[in-house]
Amino acid sequence: MKKKKLKKGTLDVDTLKQMVRGIMSSREDEIDCDECFEQLDHFSELSLAGKSADEALPLVKQHLETCPDCKEEFEVLLKALNAVSSKGG
Ligand SMILES: [Zn+2]
Repeated sequence: MKKKKLKKGTLDVDTLKQMVRGIMSSREDEIDCDECFEQLDHFSELSLAGKSADEALPLVKQHLETCPDCKEEFEVLLKALNAVSSKGG
């Protein structure tokens, strides 16, 4: 007499939930270009004021390091702000 083995699913719900959570939480640590651009004003103002923009907005800093487009945008903005602040007294 042969016994049939019951095949258990390799992935249970808990494992799946953990995987999804892992993906979600890693996404929280990154921002996209739109979000970066929204905070870029603030980031450059902080940098210009000599404050630690890196610490205040680490996600922007992280994005700038990985995205040349936004970095260029940031440098242009910084120059513009610099010009404005040196004009005004
Ligand atoms: Zn970007």
